[in-house]
Amino acid sequence: MALKIYNSLTKKEEIFKPIKPGRAGLYTCGPTVYSYVQIGNWRTYILSDLIFRTLEYLGYKVDYVINITDVGHLTGDNSGDADTGEDRLEKAAKKERKTAWQIAEFYTNDFLEGFDKLNLKRPKVFSKATDHIQDQIDLISKIEKRGFTYKTSDGIYFDTVAFEKAGNVYGQMSSLDQIKEGARVERNLEKRNPRDFALWKFSPKDKKRDMEWDSPWGVGFPGWHIECSAMSMKYLGDQFDIHTGGEDLLSTHHPNEIAQSEAATGKKPFVKFWVHGAFLLVDGGRMGKSLGNAYNLHDLEEKGYSPLDLRYFYLTGHYHKQLNFTWETLKSAKESRLKLLSLVSELESGEGRGKIAGRTSAWRESFTQTLEDNLNLPQALAIVWETARNKDFSGEEKLELLFDFDRILGLGLETFGRIQNKEVPVPIKKLAEKRDRLRKSGDWHQADIIRKEIESRGFRIEDCSDGSRVLPKISS
Ligand code: AMP
Ligand code: ZN
Repeated sequence: MALKIYNSLTKKEEIFKPIKPGRAGLYTCGPTVYSYVQIGNWRTYILSDLIFRTLEYLGYKVDYVINITDVGHLTGDNSGDADTGEDRLEKAAKKERKTAWQIAEFYTNDFLEGFDKLNLKRPKVFSKATDHIQDQIDLISKIEKRGFTYKTSDGIYFDTVAFEKAGNVYGQMSSLDQIKEGARVERNLEKRNPRDFALWKFSPKDKKRDMEWDSPWGVGFPGWHIECSAMSMKYLGDQFDIHTGGEDLLSTHHPNEIAQSEAATGKKPFVKFWVHGAFLLVDGGRMGKSLGNAYNLHDLEEKGYSPLDLRYFYLTGHYHKQLNFTWETLKSAKESRLKLLSLVSELESGEGRGKIAGRTSAWRESFTQTLEDNLNLPQALAIVWETARNKDFSGEEKLELLFDFDRILGLGLETFGRIQNKEVPVPIKKLAEKRDRLRKSGDWHQADIIRKEIESRGFRIEDCSDGSRVLPKISS
């Protein structure tokens, strides 16, 4: 078999064929760092992580890039026009009494911490929009030279009509009614066509922005869409294999990326495969800051959940279908994840070992097939559980398979097994022994202080009849 994946560009499942044999270029639209990344955004990044891991699992060498939007994403996007409203970062800066640069730094760091907590594999490049201003100016100049731009009083715009007149199609991925024109905060009457979009915005004449740059057109800042074209083409080439994002980006952000990239290079297609993740719902409805349900990883951790519980939860749904988050579903994801860990722990400690050998390669094959079938993770997860429960496999075989499957699942099964049974660091072991001695001598108070010390270092103690065991800490 070969990897089959749903391509939003052609609106059907297609066999993935890379531009360069054995190599894949993958780009993901990353966060706008003006507040904490919420669990809906994380669903989209987990999808890119699963694509990344699957491609590597299938033997591809992957060039993976994620951008960080730290300028140019305006609030008007919420009401259907990304070129209007306030800059999200400048708005947050005013509210938090910081500069836009400080806001960007704070939330970028928090995003990167969350990225690691969810065990997302880091890309080759995290590219920040503000580190690539010149690349964006150069790209706009190219588009200008090819005759697809015009100037208004507030910026340089992409001319979608000129683009179509030159024989291109604008908005192939979105149906036209998805390109919202209505619901505007303020209408930009200088735009020649409502679908046109800003490539460069001028700074207001009466005010200095925290983030602004010189350009051939005047002081200002880039429009939201241009950064993704500039950075993806810089790192992955004028044409590359896969581009991902949430389904909301289908209507304008991605069609605009395609138009401006193809306008600049004259090469088609800009990207071969567009993969969009369906939205996360909360309690059956939309999630949003105003609804108080745009939870972030800190909210989950405060309630005693591990970010890996969320990761497990996302594995239970197909990326192409909406998924409903409730605290109840998160709780059952947590229970399943802990059960899987405890099965691994039993297998590691030798239970069920030495049974008749099974055929692991057939299982590996069916696991691979479910991934190749448009990333059918719920089915892959079912194979994981069947493996864990299969009576024909020896313990070693089960572990071998589970650790192999975990290259996709990313639940840290192998690390867990290793830490639990073999690799508890010596200082932690010493503390545990000291605690055992204190308990034997009846000094419960000191023993308790040491237990807390062990816990603060990411481990926990389980007392048993013949002493105690040190285990990695899993929040329960
Ligand atoms: P933003 O920070 O708003 O640019 O969004 C970052 C990414 O998260 C984009 O790819 C969005 O499509 C995606 N996203 C936003 N809300 C949700 C949601 N509720 N479910 C899934 N993905 C989302
Ligand atoms: Zn983007």
